[in-house]
Amino acid sequence: MTAEPAAAAVRATVYGYPRQGANRELKKAIEGYWKGRVSADALRTTAADLRRSNWRELADAGLTEVPTGDFSYYDHMLDTSVMLGAIPDRHREAVAADTLDGYFAMARGTQDVAPLEMTKWFDTNYHYLVPELGPDTVFAADSGKQVAELTEALALGLTARPVLVGPITYLLLAKPAPGVAADFEPLTLLDRLLPVYAEVLADLRAAGAEWVQLDEPALVQDRTPAELNAAARAYRDLGALTDRSKLLVAGYFGRLGEALQVLAASPVEGLALDFTDSGAANLDDLAAVGGLPGKRLVAGVVNGRNIWINDHQKSLATLGTLLGLAGQVDVAASCSLLHVPYDAAAERDIDPEIRGWLAFARQKTTEIAVLARGLSQGTDAIGAELAANRAALASRANSPLTRDPAVRARTAAVTDADGRRAQPYPERAAAQRAQLGLPVLPTTTIGSFPQTDELRVARADLRAGRIDAAGYEERIKDEIREVISFQEKTGVDVLVHGEPERNDMVQYFAEQLTGYLATQHGWVQSYGTRYVRPPVLAGDISRPEPMTVRWTSYAQAQTDRPVKGMLTGPVTMLAWSFVRDDQPLGETARQVALALRDEVNDLEAAGTSVIQVDEPALRETLPLRAAEHAAYLDWATESFRLTTSGVRPDTQIHTHMCYAEFGDIVQAIDDLDADVISLEAARSHMQVADELAEHGYPREAGPGVWDIHSPRVPSAEEAAGLLRKGLAAIPAERLWVNPDCGLKTRGWAETRASLENLVAAARDVRAELAELTDGTAKG
Ligand code: GLN
Ligand code: ZN
Repeated sequence: MTAEPAAAAVRATVYGYPRQGANRELKKAIEGYWKGRVSADALRTTAADLRRSNWRELADAGLTEVPTGDFSYYDHMLDTSVMLGAIPDRHREAVAADTLDGYFAMARGTQDVAPLEMTKWFDTNYHYLVPELGPDTVFAADSGKQVAELTEALALGLTARPVLVGPITYLLLAKPAPGVAADFEPLTLLDRLLPVYAEVLADLRAAGAEWVQLDEPALVQDRTPAELNAAARAYRDLGALTDRSKLLVAGYFGRLGEALQVLAASPVEGLALDFTDSGAANLDDLAAVGGLPGKRLVAGVVNGRNIWINDHQKSLATLGTLLGLAGQVDVAASCSLLHVPYDAAAERDIDPEIRGWLAFARQKTTEIAVLARGLSQGTDAIGAELAANRAALASRANSPLTRDPAVRARTAAVTDADGRRAQPYPERAAAQRAQLGLPVLPTTTIGSFPQTDELRVARADLRAGRIDAAGYEERIKDEIREVISFQEKTGVDVLVHGEPERNDMVQYFAEQLTGYLATQHGWVQSYGTRYVRPPVLAGDISRPEPMTVRWTSYAQAQTDRPVKGMLTGPVTMLAWSFVRDDQPLGETARQVALALRDEVNDLEAAGTSVIQVDEPALRETLPLRAAEHAAYLDWATESFRLTTSGVRPDTQIHTHMCYAEFGDIVQAIDDLDADVISLEAARSHMQVADELAEHGYPREAGPGVWDIHSPRVPSAEEAAGLLRKGLAAIPAERLWVNPDCGLKTRGWAETRASLENLVAAARDVRAELAELTDGTAKG
């Protein structure tokens, strides 16, 4: 820790701030605009007011440099496409007619024109709009938004730094436009793109920017030598410009690795690096390249994407080391604060002691300012803050919430055998076949049935006290009976209860597990105006009582066919929550797994012979660097097996994942040792079936034959066609027939028709198979 003040004044800053406003004013204004209830002028005014109040707040909290340009009506990648003139042809007319409406058309599509594709921003739960580029793309600078927002902030008398997505990350995240060859590499457009960045930089300099930040998070991923070369070229060329502000290149979400050398050797004046746990290696790497003499180093020591208070002692130690390694050291969060909720102080329902462990965007801003003060004036200047920080950390470390001896004893006692089914798969398969008596090509669904307005009304009625728990329960039971009877009538083989009681597949369980906290206002942007409120996995996890057994048993009592129990798996429970940072993720996953294991065993004891444990997040949580994959997949698969291995051989374990590109984790999927897996496959024409076959996947699989992401009803013939494709890869004894994913977003009409067609397809293909075997027998 440093006691001596640093030589130069230390600046405190962030790269971005939550956009929505304290009461989600931006969401309301934008959605109001879409519905025609809010005028464009009123929307612009709301947005400008929010930007102003955010900047004032940041400055009042003690930040000495505020970001600009991080605001967005929808997404900052889309803003970057606009800034670079990379408007897809199909949207040009709309953009020319009205920039705002054209912008939203790119984001959301219109009746006639498809939107840009959306995908996850690195390993966060934020989604960006994917730029569409091709050999004919003509870039054109449009610095209007960036210049206007910089001007607004400067007018407030603040020191402001525009934040832009950098050219390498922009190109690496782009994809070939429709109609362009799939192997087109957007990075080949770099030479065409750099002059456009040069124009924007000149405009920002003219508007008064001392510094401009270029975000390059793509450089914390594994990059080829060619890509690193492109980065070197880009920053050599941008650095060589004379008409520009000073450049700060930010690489966040982890360790820069090879790219650090490239950027350190470039003429840019500053680097922003991640020094939280995920980027800790940057510290040694920085020393290894000889530091950044003469450059500005912005040290991301406060975690920008978790919701926990910082460890000031630890940060000051890091900052102290960094002082010897760069010309100037400034303090920041590791990444934009876009990924955390706005204000922990608003969480009135959380015990004040526990609330003291939480730092959302507002609290993180203050932490950054405190650290900067400590670094420039010496730690005595922040004595009170350090004492309070130590006390809060101690309270957290010693709390019964974070240290439950029973939970700890149980995880410590886990043996390798606990994570293995007692019988090998062939024995289990035989026992399950005898137990379940299913036809060849059995049909099933993924779990949820349409979440109807009536169900939402019932939940709202319960919350508002218009109905009591018993009244709510009746409505759920009505729904379950309807779902069961529909499946029976349609001829589905393995039924589900439909999940009508679940608002969300993670929240539903989080609410029932000890160790999880719910927030009242902890909204974070998922995409556009969609905000989610992830639960907080704060403490040791235990399950006070069964969570799903009642509903599953009720459903089973309505039918003689098997009803599948439905659970959310440990990896997904972590991935879609804010997780604790005071122990390895694997340890947390193990606690969740043991709680879920009890649920699995209770379901079995209650007579459930098929149990599905969903892990849709398994692939998306894969670390950004390949070197870290093995360790992650190790604990991820172990926790799944720990959840599912306590059952009898004749109990059939299913899992479900909904993504089509899983080639790089097929071994991990095999390692789950689930008896049956259902996967999304309809859109990729059953490609996953081939990938499973190529791998030699030994167990049963249901590649989806109905794309549930659209309201389109597949015909029986179409589904049968996909099934026959599946049969070419997976033998009939191991092939299941199911949709791509749950049906909660679908309406009942299309669900009825599609499921009937799916069952018809299974019957048709079964008949073909029977004919084939008869034929063989006779011949
Ligand atoms: N069982 C869940 C459902 O059907 C699975 C959802 C998912 O895969 N995301 O809704
Ligand atoms: Zn799914």
